[in-house]
Amino acid sequence: MNANLFATFERIALAAGDAAFLDTDTGPGLSYAQMLALTARYANTLERLGVRPGDRLAVQVDKSVQNFCLYLAALRMGAVYLPLNTGYQLGELAYFLEDATPHVFVCAPAGHAAKSALAAQHGVAHTLTLDEDGGGSLSALAAGERDRFATATLAADDIAIIIYTSGTTGRPKGAMLTHANLLSNGRALTKLWNFGAADVLLHALPLFHAHGLFISSHCALLSGSRMLFLKKFKAEQVAALLPRATVMVGVPTFYTRLLDLPAFDAASAANMRLFISGSAPLLAETNRAFAQRTGQIVLERYGMTESAIISSNPCHGERRIGSVGLAIDGVEVRIADADDMALPAGAVGGIQIRGSGVMKGYWRKPELTAAEFSADGWFRTGDLGTLGADGYLNIVGRAKDLVISGGYNVYPKEIEMAIDALPGVLESAVIGVPDRDFGEAVTAVVVCRGAPLDGAAVIAPLKTQLANYKVPKHVHFVAELPRNAMGKVLKNVLRSTYGGDKTA
Ligand code: ATP
Ligand code: MG
Repeated sequence: MNANLFATFERIALAAGDAAFLDTDTGPGLSYAQMLALTARYANTLERLGVRPGDRLAVQVDKSVQNFCLYLAALRMGAVYLPLNTGYQLGELAYFLEDATPHVFVCAPAGHAAKSALAAQHGVAHTLTLDEDGGGSLSALAAGERDRFATATLAADDIAIIIYTSGTTGRPKGAMLTHANLLSNGRALTKLWNFGAADVLLHALPLFHAHGLFISSHCALLSGSRMLFLKKFKAEQVAALLPRATVMVGVPTFYTRLLDLPAFDAASAANMRLFISGSAPLLAETNRAFAQRTGQIVLERYGMTESAIISSNPCHGERRIGSVGLAIDGVEVRIADADDMALPAGAVGGIQIRGSGVMKGYWRKPELTAAEFSADGWFRTGDLGTLGADGYLNIVGRAKDLVISGGYNVYPKEIEMAIDALPGVLESAVIGVPDRDFGEAVTAVVVCRGAPLDGAAVIAPLKTQLANYKVPKHVHFVAELPRNAMGKVLKNVLRSTYGGDKTA
């Protein structure tokens, strides 16, 4: 049997034929049959350029139907797809090109000359362009190619993508995900989230991150359903498109932005059967407000580049607000201490995972890979959490963000939740900064909702709610928190700003 993930997609696509595969908010999209033809043309083009199974194809282009089909073409021919954040500048790009040594690099026409020179310096054989409307040198070459291609026969352990982590806690690492990893995760989620041919997936995430590239899109491909692509999330536009969709995948800010629209209500969401959130914690308060407004609880799930999805709340069954749900099929989850000893239900410890969805390792980083796996094969996620006796997982925070003050463990999330609930506060981030007396001093960085507050307005009420060692010693006010493209707060940036960078 061919373990190439695309071989499975192909069977479904052949059966779906002229059914719609991928629409956009602006232009006409592609049917399943047209997707098969376009991926064949791209695969033929790349093959002509010398790309062979296992070669890397680095892609830094704006989201488009063609961009997504280029990803599928890479799977189809057994090349390793390597998406890069479109925000990366030349200096950052150099790191990835050097680390990944791609055979072909595809970038946007803007800045192409400088990027192509940089790529050539790093031994990249060909740099092509793909613009946001699907034009560019790649398309020109592909136009003359055949629209048939024999899908490469691969082994389950062959690498499908190398995808760099978000770099929230340090330099991004290239996670190698195999065809088997992706098929296992895709099948489990398609079943868990009940995807069927009648679904329409509203997709407003970027394609350079695991969340947008393959987590939900594979559910569409495995169920023969349709996707509706938006280049960027804009709340008004999304609200207007919801009547044409049945499922939406997103990050927490999508849901807060929708709630900011006064007209967004149950009628706006009436056609939707599922709202999904991941990549960062969804505040319980946001989810409750969303449920009150629409009658639907957002289904929160948890995952990471190294394993796609780990856990999800169920479609049917209890959707527990504040929890990231139950381990999905093919993934085992446990909570362990620093010596990799499993801890009992309810105890806070490191979240560890094992199973068919977990990556093969970090690209060209065997020592780091070995360091992140326990002797018995559990991957240490770097997140802290608790697992209830009923199997529901709660995330407490990242191990690297843990603050140890006066010998006490302080979990920033608990303090952030207390601060965020104060009048006049929009949001906050809590970090530890080096301190002579306490080792680390709990420090809050706060964004006000309207009129500026002072430190006492934050500290005084917290003193009545929290043990003294948890109350921030310092409060800084900022206009906004530094975030990456996935909306995650960059605590290492805050730590270096306020004097306590642990990751440098
Ligand atoms: P890096 O590993 O480079 O520091 P990163 O961990 O942010 O970056 P990703 O793989 O994109 O890179 O993100 C995975 C992380 O996102 C998880 O380890 C977890 O900390 C966080 N995360 C994902 N989903 C949730 C969720 N539902 N609730 C809380 N945190 C989440
Ligand atoms: Mg990580």
